[in-house]
Amino acid sequence: MKRFAIAIDLGATNLRVALISREGKILGKKSVPTPQSRSSQVIINEIVSLIQTTIKESRITVNQIKGIGISAAAPVDISKGEIVNPPNIPCKKISPTETLKKKFHLPVTLYNDCTAAVWGEKHFGKGKKYKNIVYITISSGIGGGIISNDRLLLGRSGSAGEIGHFNIAAPYRFPCGCKKGINHWEGFCSGNNLPRFFKFWQKKHKITPPYYVHNAKEIFALAKAKNKIALKFLKEVNKLNALGISNVIVAYDPEIIILGGAVVLNNKEIILAGIKKNVEKFLPIPKIVATSLKSDVSLFGAAALLFWPPN
Ligand SMILES: [Zn+2]
Repeated sequence: MKRFAIAIDLGATNLRVALISREGKILGKKSVPTPQSRSSQVIINEIVSLIQTTIKESRITVNQIKGIGISAAAPVDISKGEIVNPPNIPCKKISPTETLKKKFHLPVTLYNDCTAAVWGEKHFGKGKKYKNIVYITISSGIGGGIISNDRLLLGRSGSAGEIGHFNIAAPYRFPCGCKKGINHWEGFCSGNNLPRFFKFWQKKHKITPPYYVHNAKEIFALAKAKNKIALKFLKEVNKLNALGISNVIVAYDPEIIILGGAVVLNNKEIILAGIKKNVEKFLPIPKIVATSLKSDVSLFGAAALLFWPPN
């Protein structure tokens, strides 16, 4: 039996490759900074070279490998196997599937990273017992993956679950980082946007002198040191996260919501307690937990999509 899969996670910051067994064991893992090139060929060449080294070091032969699964932190077109307008890489389109198929003579699949992640939760994580699962990442951006009655929700091209751009009923008029709208959940609460919202919020509350922060981590560090302004700000962030989650609950009626991404994993107590306290109770509240697969959730998902193709 082909017991192994090559999983690739093309993220905003890192490009990672792992060799994962059907039982969910990671046999080898490599990570490099995501090439910031306008040429998609540079990125594809880097993927090829990482796969070659991973296979070589594993002592596993290509005929024991089920395929290559790619997960990408970007909108995708799964029928063409393409990444379209990645928000954090300067090229317009990346089409790695054909090159990889020819090079390794293996099947290649490509999905959005949160779509992959929810499938990873279903097969390797906390979603095993459930048929209705939503995975949400709060990291540089906010995104989701949805399983409804055991079916993976894909949408027209594979970008269903871009829940970070839900418009939430916040008492502000604040543009999203995507520049396509105002009051999007991600525009307030994702790692990349929190410092921008913190600045706006301090101005609105006439806090002088304001705190200048370089990243989200510094805001959480202030709060952990009991800084009153940061604590008050995170109280507001908790409410906005709960609005986003409330929308998710009424849209998908999940049994369980699994949260991941660096903002959640590094501040689990603050984020989870804040959501549970403020979430609207129109529908019964599902279980709300943090992922046990940590930052490898999309890699597990990319592998799971090869072992157990969806739908
Ligand atoms: Zn947006």
